[in-house]
Amino acid sequence: QPKNKSKGAIEGAAQVGVTIDKELDFPGWYQQVLTKGEMLEYYDVSGCYIMRPASFFVWEKITEFFNKRITDMGVRNAYFPMFVSSRVLEREKDHVEGFAPEVAWVTRAGSSDLEEPIAIRPTSETVMYPYYAKWIRSHRDLPLRLNQWNSVVRWEFKHPQPFLRTREFLWQEGHTAHLTKEGAVEEVDQILDWYADVYTDLLAVPVIKGQKTSKEKFAGSLFSRSIEGFIPTTGRGIQAATSHCLGQNFSKMFNIVVEDPSAPEGTEKGKLHVWQNSWGLSTRTIGVMVMVHSDNNGLVIPPRVAEVQVVVIPLGLDKKATPETIEQVTAACQKAEADLRAAGLRVTVDARDQQPGWKYADAELRGICLRLEIGPKDLAKGTALSVRRDNRAKAPLALDSLAVEVPKVLDQMHNDMYARAKELFDSHIKTVLTVEEMGPLLNERNVLLAPFCGEEECEDVIKDATARQNTEDVDERAPSMGAKTLCVPKDQPELKEGTKCAGCDRPAVAWTLFGRSY
Ligand code: AMP
Repeated sequence: QPKNKSKGAIEGAAQVGVTIDKELDFPGWYQQVLTKGEMLEYYDVSGCYIMRPASFFVWEKITEFFNKRITDMGVRNAYFPMFVSSRVLEREKDHVEGFAPEVAWVTRAGSSDLEEPIAIRPTSETVMYPYYAKWIRSHRDLPLRLNQWNSVVRWEFKHPQPFLRTREFLWQEGHTAHLTKEGAVEEVDQILDWYADVYTDLLAVPVIKGQKTSKEKFAGSLFSRSIEGFIPTTGRGIQAATSHCLGQNFSKMFNIVVEDPSAPEGTEKGKLHVWQNSWGLSTRTIGVMVMVHSDNNGLVIPPRVAEVQVVVIPLGLDKKATPETIEQVTAACQKAEADLRAAGLRVTVDARDQQPGWKYADAELRGICLRLEIGPKDLAKGTALSVRRDNRAKAPLALDSLAVEVPKVLDQMHNDMYARAKELFDSHIKTVLTVEEMGPLLNERNVLLAPFCGEEECEDVIKDATARQNTEDVDERAPSMGAKTLCVPKDQPELKEGTKCAGCDRPAVAWTLFGRSY
């Protein structure tokens, strides 16, 4: 449950608003902006949360955007059961080892024990692939590309965080089968590009594309690529989405084979195991968006996903107002609303019986992108005063051109939000050559680009060393303190011949991004 007393309490803050400072108590602040902004409600099963309409709207915008891209590419949506038998779940060894600690089991129905416990999917590779074996009969059935929009359950024991790490979460999981490795790899990168677009084009959040190290890759994959985000207030990295090439590991276990179409006519055709991918993007997106943009006045939601983009607030309707003024202001507000709605914007008029100041604070708490104030003085000038949520910039806009001007302001707001977040991310990526340099820079909330050998044991050494260097006070709710690899960025600076790994004496194979992470 959200706590009330906080080391970050904001002096004199109105109780209805955010009362905890983002810089001073980040977890407390995060809980408050989400609950007071009515995005999320706590639930009585730990690690599970209610997504209220304001956050579900954001998720719907993300699903619309991504679903269009994948269906245009030929992916089809389907739905598979949430239950999986232990026999099938355990078919791929590395995969089950990776997920076993987090799998939730159904063991009882009513008052009787089940003969065989049934697992709830933590992801659906093993649910789907027995049927891929049945449906893929020849190379003509390839590529097979299915996706589902569903929820999965991972009974994680790390501290849960709304949206970022929850025990049940919404996501999409795409599962595809290809004849060739090239076909599969091309798709892995295409999907990663679209995931990056979700963050940059919709959420105004910068990300870095790269490949996971062998230690951090998905259980059972050949290789995993990811986009990585950054939370400036804590200096932590966050895995924003992942696109895995499963290689032939699962097709061998589940016997998904076709005859090799390249075998010469008349010879016996060899069997080919198909090449598979799986890729997923979850409601974690929403948490990253909130953490990056929101502030001590509440949510700041980027315009392309905000449920309400514009609120029109009438001014000067107090007791002294003449009936004529009331009528004019009300009519102007309604016209502004109608014009903006016709232009395709999501807009409301706040006509509630409250003081304007109260309405401003309420709109800020909810992260409404732009407010338009219209009173008698504005009407005399034929303008509305616009106030942006992200930077509070004020500008008068001509009432008769709102439908043209407001979309421009919202686009500018998106671009500015992205630019600000990108500048913060970029300025917090520090280049280091040795593990000794890492601790102090991590403590200053940076992520680090270091030459790295790629070996798992070396990654462990760096994690332990940087955990010991941690000087922050350890909050029971804080994520792990040692640095791990986030990814090997796709955009690589030049790695000079003979450069050594930051963690050991081996030669470095790539610049690798390290950070404390969620
Ligand atoms: P994975 O199948 O493990 O690659 O997960 C796909 C994506 O889902 C990851 O890249 C994360 O961004 C996200 N994700 C993983 N675990 C959780 C969780 N417990 N809660 C919310 N999102 C998650």
